[in-house]
Amino acid sequence: MNDCIFCRIINREIPSTIVYENDSIIAFEDISHMAPVHTLIVPKKHIANILELEDPELLEEITFAIRKVAEIKGVDKTGFRIITNTGDDGCQSVKHLHFHLLGGKKLSEKLD
Ligand code: 5GP
Ligand code: ZN
Repeated sequence: MNDCIFCRIINREIPSTIVYENDSIIAFEDISHMAPVHTLIVPKKHIANILELEDPELLEEITFAIRKVAEIKGVDKTGFRIITNTGDDGCQSVKHLHFHLLGGKKLSEKLD
């Protein structure tokens, strides 16, 4: 049994508000918004974090999805921030690679 929460969202075992999806990527609203726009962009393949990302095509698809989600959420003109927390010091709580897209307001310059 897969106890990865994002794999379970991808498999529709847990509901989520999907913003964008294609064969390799899903993007859904973060359950706990830290900004007016807070969407998670997640490869469907279970990869622990960015250190494990080896497929350059998938990286290209992630980049495409980030642009797409920014347009859908209406922040492509105003700007946004992409964060991928990695490991313990990075405070990664879900061990399935994901990118936070944050925006919809002027974000703090302080990162910690
Ligand atoms: P991390 O801390 O690993 O960088 O980010 C994990 C993110 O996943 C957190 O911002 C958290 O709010 C979000 N999250 C955790 N569980 C769920 C869930 O069941 N559904 C959704 N939509 N987001 C979740
Ligand atoms: Zn997973």
